[in-house]
Amino acid sequence: MIAFDFAYYKPETILEAFETYATENDQGKKVVYYAGGTEFITFARVNKLDANVVIDIKGISECNVLEIKDGQLIIGSAVSLNKISDSNLFPLLGQTAKKIADHTSRNKISIGGNMNSRLMYRECLLPLLVVEANVVIFSKNETKIVPVAHLYNGTVKLTAGDFLVQIIINTSMIDLPYVSFKRTKLSKVGYPVLSLAAIRTDSEKIRVAFSGICENPFRSKKIEKIINDTALTIDERVEQVATSLPIPVISDIESSMEYRVFVLKNALSDMIAELELAK
Ligand SMILES: Cc1cc2nc3c(=O)[nH]c(=O)nc-3n(C[C@H](O)[C@H](O)[C@H](O)COP(=O)(O)OP(=O)(O)OC[C@H]3O[C@@H](n4cnc5c(N)ncnc54)[C@H](O)[C@@H]3O)c2cc1C
Repeated sequence: MIAFDFAYYKPETILEAFETYATENDQGKKVVYYAGGTEFITFARVNKLDANVVIDIKGISECNVLEIKDGQLIIGSAVSLNKISDSNLFPLLGQTAKKIADHTSRNKISIGGNMNSRLMYRECLLPLLVVEANVVIFSKNETKIVPVAHLYNGTVKLTAGDFLVQIIINTSMIDLPYVSFKRTKLSKVGYPVLSLAAIRTDSEKIRVAFSGICENPFRSKKIEKIINDTALTIDERVEQVATSLPIPVISDIESSMEYRVFVLKNALSDMIAELELAK
């Protein structure tokens, strides 16, 4: 049971959603956007979150798009993880999404909800960071297109009231050789001790992004430089990466820091070997 009352709006346009947010917020109310609702409901039930107003963005047509148009894959922020996996339009994203939660939850969990989650994992970001996707956001009364890394590499930098409308990926990036890896503490369903998504681009460079190992998902140019330094052996590159992470490796109930580093090294060795073989 949710122990507080809130007003629920389901706007049909982007502008209506934003105006509802602005009007209610100006009256001092706490307003949240809502897509799959799994995180909102989970936290609201245990009093870890409250809100006076909930704006459900699933009624907005732009947020429900999943199509290829003019050389771009367009994914609406309210599209569920299962729809993305089942479509197989972007296999790396589909594989990554498929490893999040259980099948029933993935019918609800939206890609936008995952990317804006208050939990640190946000695994759908990994494929988007490596293919250098753009995101369409509605911010301060206008639609803006910005590189995903500007808002989502590290902590989420969306300003209050702004919301994610769509993700745009150049179709030249969706069928490249890839590796998707996730290791959990115990079972198949669980938060990642380490999750990584990697591709090899046409210019033969490996790009990789990580989640679970540090406080936020990230892609690092410094790490990719080491990974692509073929003058070094794979083992040498892996050792250098393990000491060059841009943020500290965490230790928590899922795993110790030492175990995370151990898993990272193994995953990197396999990933480099597999993607270099794909040349
Ligand atoms: C059983 C279970 C297992 C899970 N396991 C994993 C896992 O292994 N890896 C992982 O990465 N995550 C995992 N999660 C977390 C899940 O991906 C997030 O909780 C996600 O936020 C849920 O998406 P939703 O659409 O239901 O979110 P909602 O509850 O609708 O929203 C979540 C947050 O995102 C904001 N938001 C939603 N849409 C937008 C938008 N378009 N623009 C701006 N803000 C928006 C909301 O305001 C809210 O703050 C798991 C969740 C469950 C329930």
